[in-house]
Amino acid sequence: MASATTSAQAPHSLSVEQARRAILDRLAPVSGWERVSVRDALGRILAEDVLAPCNVPAHDNSAMDGYAVRHADLRTDGETGLTIVGTAFAGRPFSGMVGAGQAVRIMTGAPIPQGADTIVVQEAVRLEASRVIIPPGQDAFQNLRRAGEDLALGGVALPAGKRCGPVELGLIASLGLAEVVVYRRLRVTYLSTGDEIASIGRPLAPGEVYDSNRYTLFGVLTRLDCELLDLGVVRDEPQALEATLRDAAANSDVILTSGGVSVGEADFIREILNRLGEVAFWKIDIKPGRPMAFGRIGNAWMFGLPGNPVAVLVTWFQFVHDALLTLAGAHPLPVLHSFQVVCIEDIPKRPGRREFLRGRLVRAPEGLHVEVAGAQGSGVLRSMSDADCFIVLPEECAGVHAGQPVTVQPFEGLF
Ligand code: AMP
Ligand code: MG
Repeated sequence: MASATTSAQAPHSLSVEQARRAILDRLAPVSGWERVSVRDALGRILAEDVLAPCNVPAHDNSAMDGYAVRHADLRTDGETGLTIVGTAFAGRPFSGMVGAGQAVRIMTGAPIPQGADTIVVQEAVRLEASRVIIPPGQDAFQNLRRAGEDLALGGVALPAGKRCGPVELGLIASLGLAEVVVYRRLRVTYLSTGDEIASIGRPLAPGEVYDSNRYTLFGVLTRLDCELLDLGVVRDEPQALEATLRDAAANSDVILTSGGVSVGEADFIREILNRLGEVAFWKIDIKPGRPMAFGRIGNAWMFGLPGNPVAVLVTWFQFVHDALLTLAGAHPLPVLHSFQVVCIEDIPKRPGRREFLRGRLVRAPEGLHVEVAGAQGSGVLRSMSDADCFIVLPEECAGVHAGQPVTVQPFEGLF
């Protein structure tokens, strides 16, 4: 039999989907919750269903400015004259009864007076002294908003797992609730690795690079409302790294590192991680961001991201963002938008990896187009800042010609 040298030579690598699944399938929400005020719920994830303690709206009310009438009074073959007996305002209901042949002037949001069952909009009527003249053709119960029609008393107003944005704060307040129960914040430790990485605020020595990843990670983690522990830059020294990771694992749900997972360095970190926990080093069919580590150290999940600044953002968005939301209790995961637009330039590509290019959406008379946003090196943050979307080229793609549609993922909501 011929030896299996070809497959042995081909390094085993994971597709983006396989890597995502391998991560998400292992994760479950952290335990622990707290009660917070409505304002403090912004960005937090509900740990239990929010049940409506009242009907919304609280009472039947008018959807329009007009007249509250009894439908049975209205003639079908001609106009009906009704006597106006009062006015109902949103904050000042009409306390009487609408009797036969009577109508009440009513404003939007005002409770429907007793006896009335139909609202006729003011634009449709004519006034004659103290009478309102209603044309035929009015439907019974028209222009009413029913009590509980938006949210019924006791019903689930917001499900557990929902992340609270401005809309949810308003909805919670519309129920009269002052507090909700949310998952506790994730504790995330992050650090940068590399002998060449210099902290900001001092001049660079020859060969050094300022630590930008730590600030990128600070930004994306803060947007996800994590509790952060910043361990700074750790040298490529086994003892220092081991002690730091051991410490981090004891105090966090998640450890995020950048750098040190590429081929040359991985062996050195792998040794340490093997002693500390169970972390797999992956080659993923993705560009940028091919090497990544994922696993567990003690009670903490560890994500070892690549060192290149753009690779950090690509792997963050493909693998870490949803993982952290899952750990934080979000369910279902929000669907990130992607759509097809025409690419207005050629993009060379070899089949094999899924590529994420920095793109910029351009408004053209025919609709949205996309162009490549500057230099695409995986260390170039400037073009990342110029971009407003990823152009996602699938594994099998062998290049794009100007005029062809491509998939884009807007940055909005990602970072
Ligand atoms: P590594 O994955 O450690 O080999 O790093 C890959 C590239 O990313 C190298 O050019 C590093 O200098 C750069 N890099 C690594 N960590 C950082 C960081 N924290 N900030 C900016 N660049 C970094
Ligand atoms: Mg390094």
